[in-house]
Amino acid sequence: MEAVADDEPTLFGALPSCTRSANRRLGVGEVELPVDGATVARFVAKCAPVDDQGHRWWLGAIDGGADRSGGYGRFQAGPGRHTSVITTAHRYAWTLAHGPVPPGLVLRHRCDEPLCTADADLEVGTFADNRWDTVARPYRAADLDLRGSAGRSRAIREAVLAVLARGDASPGAIGAAARAAMLAGDPNRDQLTLL
Ligand SMILES: [Zn+2]
Repeated sequence: MEAVADDEPTLFGALPSCTRSANRRLGVGEVELPVDGATVARFVAKCAPVDDQGHRWWLGAIDGGADRSGGYGRFQAGPGRHTSVITTAHRYAWTLAHGPVPPGLVLRHRCDEPLCTADADLEVGTFADNRWDTVARPYRAADLDLRGSAGRSRAIREAVLAVLARGDASPGAIGAAARAAMLAGDPNRDQLTLL
């Protein structure tokens, strides 16, 4: 009659980790992102298949206006209007793959594409790393774009949606559509030689 279920593995991991998660002190502005099945399915449906450069373009809402900080995917995570959390699409993608971003660290795009949700193109770093990025890589394409970074992201999203609507979900077709959308706002495009 002894209960033996205590250390049986479960689909969602051992019970102690749930307890720790519930009791963990959250930092200022830090929230747990809901990862219920319906939310995850809604998120995945808004991500394009990976393109030929490894990017996974976000097809949902986009943050920001014409300012340089915009252009990130935006996602309402959670089952209901009052219980959901607005987050960035790439942060949600990272959370699905690795769990919450550790407190004090920031999530960065290795590929410098704000709209990308590909796990391989994301990494966590420190605020100092992020500042170093702005010194070492001051000219991100998204920041130079004539349409602003949010306008550039919207153009990429529309181009990828159009190619998917035609029924072509191949990595090459998605990548070509995204690159054409990028080029349209490139301030140096008249000096570029197309091969
Ligand atoms: Zn990427």
